[in-house]
Amino acid sequence: MTAECPFSLVWFRRDLRLQDNPALQAALVSGLPVMALYIHDPQPADGWAIGGASRWYLHHSLLALQRDLAEVGVPIVCLKGSVAEQMKRFLTRRAVAKLFFNRVIEPGLGEIEADICAFAERGKAEVERFHDDSLLPPEMVSKKDGTPYKVFTPFWRHASDLVQQIGVEQCLFPRPRPAKDPLSTDSLEVEKLGLLDEHPWHQKLQAYWSPGERSALKMLSRFLQESIDGYDDWRDFPARQGTSRLSAALHFGELSAARIYAVCQGRLAHEAGEGARAGIRSFLAEIGWREFSRHLLHAFPLSPAISLNRRFEHPGAWVQDDNDRQLRAWQRGETGIPLVDAGMHELWESGWMHNRVRMVTASFLTKNLGIHWRQGAAWFWDTLVDADLASNTLGWQWVAGCGADAAPYYRIFNPHLQARKFDSAGEYIHRWLGDCIDPAPLVDLGASRVQALQRYQAAIRGVNG
Ligand SMILES: Cc1cc2nc3c(=O)[nH]c(=O)nc-3n(C[C@H](O)[C@H](O)[C@H](O)COP(=O)(O)OP(=O)(O)OC[C@H]3O[C@@H](n4cnc5c(N)ncnc54)[C@H](O)[C@@H]3O)c2cc1C
Repeated sequence: MTAECPFSLVWFRRDLRLQDNPALQAALVSGLPVMALYIHDPQPADGWAIGGASRWYLHHSLLALQRDLAEVGVPIVCLKGSVAEQMKRFLTRRAVAKLFFNRVIEPGLGEIEADICAFAERGKAEVERFHDDSLLPPEMVSKKDGTPYKVFTPFWRHASDLVQQIGVEQCLFPRPRPAKDPLSTDSLEVEKLGLLDEHPWHQKLQAYWSPGERSALKMLSRFLQESIDGYDDWRDFPARQGTSRLSAALHFGELSAARIYAVCQGRLAHEAGEGARAGIRSFLAEIGWREFSRHLLHAFPLSPAISLNRRFEHPGAWVQDDNDRQLRAWQRGETGIPLVDAGMHELWESGWMHNRVRMVTASFLTKNLGIHWRQGAAWFWDTLVDADLASNTLGWQWVAGCGADAAPYYRIFNPHLQARKFDSAGEYIHRWLGDCIDPAPLVDLGASRVQALQRYQAAIRGVNG
């Protein structure tokens, strides 16, 4: 059979997996041979071109997907360029009878999806799209008055009630079997997407990550066996393997939130010990924060660029950083504050940072240095393998005190106290800094804290010019 015979097309996006993939599943039972397509847009219209560390992760995740799809007889074509243009050209040139894809909830993407659907349908292709990126479509959860939630606890109470009622079983599918009648088209190389920088800086990431669905499933099962029971006790200690490290797998959809929810509920049903149950509930609440981030991004699509609390856009709320001197010191982990520097080194070396340390480093940047959260968010965007528009925006605005359900502005993390509490033996700091701790702090923590509070008071009164 050739590609010119009618076939079903699965447009892969943030769902780089075979198991629990509604779009792939629907294509496989469509009665037609199946082809997969991935489009990488290096210059998306929304300006959020995928960052360097994430590109490395994506490259390897696509290679893994290509191998896995080959096992079930589905070739994948990888294209580069504007998503709408590439997709339309593909639909025009190839015999696509049915198009299947899972939605991605990000600003501007809904319009692109609608445009592609209309184009495909005009060309007589059937289109089916599914919700997959979060447990619930974001538009499904709102307050009684129809407005979006801005506070996590009532949001998650409402959302988890809905998930309980609806269930997630409809999103769970076994790994597909090899197709009886596969297409003979060759896969088009992932390498052609040019995701990897020429300079091999990214090779170091291999020591920390094995992108791909199989590896994500193994990580999940190891986390369930070894860490989830103690999650509530250990998740804040950065030297420990106390969290799942599944954020990149979740971002790229190597694993679905529905699968995680289902296995956690299964464990809760059979787990008698209260400690373990607390661990599972607490882990599910983090999946809830991920859900909340999507809800917020959907409701406030400008939030990656603008503080939800507009007072924080007042220039007086931030400090002028001449030649980005302080920003650069923070990026390089040369602030002289050990926990901050250790975190920034962990990020640079591994493409990831522990959540507790993300909060401390972000607080130091936005409060002690007074640098706008957007600049920190941009650095994380480029250096995290799990860079995620919704979670990164929520995280930064939360720490900066200007977002939904944000930490109050006056909650300024003291990195020394945080280190004493969560890294008392100095293991984490030593792991990432060795013995080379810069003796001269960039700023005095006490004085910069007072200045931050003064800036805040002035900004909320709106008296700065
Ligand atoms: C300043 C800042 C920036 C952040 N940027 C990102 C980002 O770009 N991408 C990202 O995935 N997370 C981000 N987070 C949230 C959080 O730090 C990471 O999700 C978490 O550290 C990932 O580690 P884990 O997989 O071991 O998490 P676990 O503790 O095992 O949690 C399980 C999953 O829940 C989700 N999750 C956990 N905490 C949060 C949270 N606070 N908000 C949203 N989802 C959460 C993640 O998908 C995570 O994989 C940010 C947090 C802060 C404070």
